Amino acid sequence: MRSLLLLATLLLAAPAFAAKPNVLLIVADDLGYNDLGFQGSTDIPTPNLDKLAAQSLVCTNGYVSHPFCSPTRAGIMTGRYQQRFGHENNPAWLPQDTVAGLPLTETTYPQLMQKAGYTTGAVGKWHLGAHPQFHPNKRGFDEYFGALGGGHQYFPGDKGGVEYTIPLNRNGKDEPQTKYLTEQFGDEASSFIGRHAGESKPWMLYLAFNAPHTPLQAPQKWLDKYSQLTDKNRQTYAAMVSSMDEAIGAVLMQLDTTKQRDNTLIYFVSDNGGPNLQAKSGSNFTSNAPLRGAKGMVYEGGMRVPFLVSWPAKIKPGKYEQPVIALDFLPTSLAAADSADLTPKNLDGVNLLPFLSGEESTAPHDTLFWRTGGPGGNNAIRRGTMKLVRLGKAEPELYDLSTDISESKNLAAEKPAVVQELVAAIAEWEKGTIKPIFESPKQGKPAAKKKKK
Ligand code: CA
Repeated sequence: MRSLLLLATLLLAAPAFAAKPNVLLIVADDLGYNDLGFQGSTDIPTPNLDKLAAQSLVCTNGYVSHPFCSPTRAGIMTGRYQQRFGHENNPAWLPQDTVAGLPLTETTYPQLMQKAGYTTGAVGKWHLGAHPQFHPNKRGFDEYFGALGGGHQYFPGDKGGVEYTIPLNRNGKDEPQTKYLTEQFGDEASSFIGRHAGESKPWMLYLAFNAPHTPLQAPQKWLDKYSQLTDKNRQTYAAMVSSMDEAIGAVLMQLDTTKQRDNTLIYFVSDNGGPNLQAKSGSNFTSNAPLRGAKGMVYEGGMRVPFLVSWPAKIKPGKYEQPVIALDFLPTSLAAADSADLTPKNLDGVNLLPFLSGEESTAPHDTLFWRTGGPGGNNAIRRGTMKLVRLGKAEPELYDLSTDISESKNLAAEKPAVVQELVAAIAEWEKGTIKPIFESPKQGKPAAKKKKK
């Protein structure tokens, strides 16, 4: 009788436990839209990410909220358009600066996951402020290991600018780099996943590779594998992508080994499109094909990215074609954690679960917005399949993405009413934004320090 009671108790308890999945958010840095196998790359095979894609809903209209690094991360961390709180530029590496970073007034994704009962960890690139007040441990992560700036040298002891050579940091303390950085971040992620396996608390891990962002530095074994690529920069970049793919494969293997894969919700995105960096050979070594534009631009190549959502226990693999955005990770994760009641009311992201499951057949977002350079800068808006781009004071351009994913045929003159509607929608959206509160550093040099008010 007693054992029956025990069994009944266990059965009752089991669904509540199973309802909270682990959450693994993997972010690549400056990865080209077309530089993964499942995205169509013909010269960079990525078997591990391809396998993950086969287990995922591949979101073919997946976006980030900005075409470059830090603002995209600010959007992910808050579920809000980062222009609402002035985080529209990259913060310079200024450890005394209390302004250049994710404003402390914002509630973060990991803080909310902590409230939902999660152990939270971050591994990798932070880039949300250099001042100690912006440290990941102060912003919701129980555990942190990584590089706090906007990028880092890949091999231990490499020389470079200050930001790219700062010591790695573990929970506020310096720690030496021991190996190729992508590999070390992968190891750290696997360690976190192993350490927290089998605990009663679920976990959330934010794994932010700085790869394949410059500097172009790759392990010899992968360089050798790409010896057929005659463009040296493309060769190195491909090797960096492969190294990241290998690290992700090891992380996924760790989930399998520790029997957590089925109930782990995984997201994968790049923080922006591939940069249009002219290699010395004259070629551009990233590919955003078939998209127009690149990192920094509000054409699709800037912020339409490889975008995966995988949760074997709940989400059927396949394709999802409606527009989704990285702002959705926060509310989706809270809903998956059965903690939707914790979702702040001021979010721009939405819970994707009913849409991804097919329960809701409408689009999760009526409209999506992008802006760089503050008010009067470059705007983009997508409503349905129509996309309007307005670069500064230039005449707006209009594209129909359903037939013209490459934004090659400007329909503005043909459809003035649509232009008018979308320009008005931008103006309305901008009422809820503010001017940037800090500037990006110029050409890798730290910006002049702002005076404190
Ligand atoms: Ca980036």
